[in-house]
Amino acid sequence: MFFVFKPEATDNQRERLLAELREQDMTALAVAGNGSRAFALVGPNSAMEKLALDRHPLIEEVVREKAPYKRASRGLHPDDTLVKLGGVAVGADRFVVIAGPCAVESAVQIDAAAAAVAAAGAHALRGGAYKPRTSPYSFQGRGPEALRLLAATSERYGLPVVTEILDAADLPGFMQCAAALQIGARNMQNYTLLRAAGKSGMPVVLKRGLSATLEELLLSAEYILNEGNNNVILCERGIRTFENATRNTLDLNAVAWLKRNTHLPVLVDPSHGTGIAELVAPLAKAAAAVGADGLLIEVHPSPAEALSDGRQSLSPEAFARLMRELRPYVEASGRHL
Ligand code: PEP
Ligand code: MN
Repeated sequence: MFFVFKPEATDNQRERLLAELREQDMTALAVAGNGSRAFALVGPNSAMEKLALDRHPLIEEVVREKAPYKRASRGLHPDDTLVKLGGVAVGADRFVVIAGPCAVESAVQIDAAAAAVAAAGAHALRGGAYKPRTSPYSFQGRGPEALRLLAATSERYGLPVVTEILDAADLPGFMQCAAALQIGARNMQNYTLLRAAGKSGMPVVLKRGLSATLEELLLSAEYILNEGNNNVILCERGIRTFENATRNTLDLNAVAWLKRNTHLPVLVDPSHGTGIAELVAPLAKAAAAVGADGLLIEVHPSPAEALSDGRQSLSPEAFARLMRELRPYVEASGRHL
């Protein structure tokens, strides 16, 4: 349930009602972006109904909302949230493309990748320093050295950086080089990491878990929002289904559903969503057409030699072609590149 105080309610009157709610085991959460008059009420349903807030003299409006996520809901926050990635706003009219290699491998590789994606018109650079690999024997990322390379590359090409964090202890290094933290599919429900990312105040790209429902995704977002950090960008990256012709099944239902039910921006990652480079362009176009706010795409200067996710990585040429072909789909959904 959400409620909104009347504008004439004084601070004292409001404080008294909030204290009364606390005494009855209910918590009123101020809804961000809506001034301090709007609150989400969390607690036992029966107790909330008994309060009859609809008829309370200090209350202007009550909205009944069954969803367990409160701050992420469009309920009392109908306007889209914009999240700044360096100088670029995600969630506004611009369709934002974040591109780069799965992992930072070397100075030469990240420079070539950044040069290619910048020339093709990408708005931000991706690249993992710490890689969450299924096997402990696979390439794990270059760690702090990769963060240093990302910082230098970001500066050289004027591209804000999005990079995945696995451990909250590494936050200081990320704060120096990244415009946004990526929380990957495997960590979508790492609540300690979500809270730490929330406390950092940094923009967060939160990827949907391998088998997570959309409600679970929004509840994970809620952990970040609940720390007072509204800079959350969601990312659909494919889910596990019975289908094994592709690495994952890119759930474009999710985009349409999320755009209706949350005010947070939504990206699509067709690279992990399909696992097959040849399928990235068609699904990227579909993502633009269905109303996504942007894309997260893997691009490698030489995909065949990539240390991770080469099979799904676009070459610089394929990425440049995609950027040219994307425009009509982006424009059809009322945005620009
Ligand atoms: C990635 O972006 O390289 C990655 C590991 O993604 P995900 O968490 O979606 O698997
Ligand atoms: Mn990858």
